[in-house]
This record gives sequence, structure tokens and C-alpha cells, in this order.
Amino acid sequence: SEEPHPDGVVRLVTAPGAELDKAQGHKFSHGHLLVLSGGPGKGGAARLAARAGLRIGAGLVTLGCPPAAMAENATRMDAVMLTPLAHAGDMVSLLADARLTALCLGPGFGLGAGQAAKLAATLRARKPAVLDADALTLLSRDPEVRALLHDQLVLTPHGGEFARLVPDLAAQMANPPGRGPAFSKVDAVRAAAARLGVVVLLKGPDTVIATPGGQVQVHAALGDRAAPWLATAGAGDVLAGIIAGLLARGFRPDRAAAMGAWLHVSAARNFGPGLIAEDLTEALPAVLRGLF
Ligand code: AMP
Ligand code: MG
Repeated sequence: SEEPHPDGVVRLVTAPGAELDKAQGHKFSHGHLLVLSGGPGKGGAARLAARAGLRIGAGLVTLGCPPAAMAENATRMDAVMLTPLAHAGDMVSLLADARLTALCLGPGFGLGAGQAAKLAATLRARKPAVLDADALTLLSRDPEVRALLHDQLVLTPHGGEFARLVPDLAAQMANPPGRGPAFSKVDAVRAAAARLGVVVLLKGPDTVIATPGGQVQVHAALGDRAAPWLATAGAGDVLAGIIAGLLARGFRPDRAAAMGAWLHVSAARNFGPGLIAEDLTEALPAVLRGLF
């Protein structure tokens, strides 16, 4: 329903509406999200993302983890299914299943060679996916993995991850005014999305989202949209899970990213200083109730 808007126009992210309602259908018609996690002791962030994916309405959520992390995850998750994935080869049948509609890679993912192979296998399957955290670090390190990027992806870097991914653009953005032509955060994110061919969502007090085609949306942390207490451990992992859950439900990458940014801040607005990431997932039902 979204009309493309002309290049150069920056829009403010606004509230999603009835499109998020799930009045019709059953769990198998709301998509299946696979969140990949790392080894024992590393999976908290992936569990937060998986929980966020469920809360935002993905029909099914599976957490895929190395076998050694199964016991830990099993004691902490009930509605989320678990599957052991020792090697990238173990993902073949899952990735070939058309009912698997989106993935989330990065939170609690780890940086080992085995995990890098799982990232490459995921990208080759060309499924909608969110890449965050460790997946962004792996992308920054390996040009061969980066060559596998495609247009069904949303990348959700914070400032540091963005600087590793596109160092030249980040450095230009950091130029103080007067030194070289002004190059804003909007310019940098737009250039990154065009270069990488993916939707890029750059986090921070203001969140900027750009498509490869140059469309930009900004979530400005002002007035009744401000939630500075969102800068807390795990908050970004919840955002990744929200967006991945929306991808699983079938929303386009740019729409999922914009709705995700709005829903994430709205959940945070139910709290104040002292917010922890778990509060965000638990506040999502109230946010959704207010929309339709
Ligand atoms: P991460 O760095 O991955 O943990 O993500 C941090 C989350 O907090 C992102 O959603 C940011 O947009 C948000 N955030 C970071 N700093 C601020 C701030 N000063 N005000 C509001 N939100 C922030
Ligand atoms: Mg993060």
C-alpha cells in the first residue's frame, strides 16, 4: 500500500495501523522465524530476539543453536522451538523449506568460523533476514560474505558497527562542519544502503532507515517519541527480533524496519529509567492493543 516516494525526500516514521492486526489466519499463516544463536553462555541476546519475534506475531519461532547450548536454551524458552545446528550443512533442509519465512542472525551469534559458514549459507538461501551484532562484524571482516548480500535483508548497526561496515562513510559523517562538504547521518545511511544493496537501519538517539533506492525514514527521538533509557544492554537485540518477526509475517524489509523502530520506542515509552531489555518484549502486547 506504500507508494514509493521521490529520492531526496526524508519522511518521519509514523505509527503502523491495522496492517499489524492478525484477525485472520492461524499460526502457519503468520510465518516462521528462525533465530540463530551461539554457544553456551552466549545465547541471551538471541533469546531476547526470539521472544520479540513471537511477541510481534510471527506464527512460529525456532531458535537454532549449537548442540552444546540446547540444554541452556531449553530451560529458558517454552513457546520457542529449539533445533540443534552443529554445522552450516545442518541448515540445508530448514533453508529449503518455503514455510521458513525469515531469519535473524547476530544477537548472541558468535564470531567463529562455523558461525560464519552459517551466515554464508543463510545469505545464499536469499530469505528475508535481519543481520545485526556479530553477523555485522562477520560481514565487515569478509568481502566474500559481503558479496552475498541481497535485497531481502535489513541491517541494523549501531554507530560502531556502522563504522566497521562502511568506514569511509562513517568517517565523512564524523567530519566537523566546515571541514569538507557537510555529510549528515541521513547522507551516510543512504549511501550505505545504496552501496550494500540492502535496507540499512542505523541506531542511536535518532534512528535512520534507508533503502537501496534512496528512500529515507527517520525516527527522531524528540518529545513524546523520546526514550533515552532505551540505551541499555539487549535493547538492540529486541529490535532485531521485532523486525525479523515482521519479515516472517511477510512485510517488506523497509516497512518491517520502519514499523520495528516505531514499535520498539513505543514499548520503551511504557517505562523510564531502569528499563531492561526484557521489559520491551513484555510491553509489546499493550503497544499492539493500542493500534487496532
Ligand atoms: P544496541 O546498541 O544494539 O544495544 O541498540 C541500542 C538501542 O537503543 C537502539 O535501538 C538505539 O536506537 C537505542 N538508543 C541508543 N541510544 C539512545 C538514546 N540516547 N536515546 C534513545 N534511544 C537510544
Ligand atoms: Mg546490538
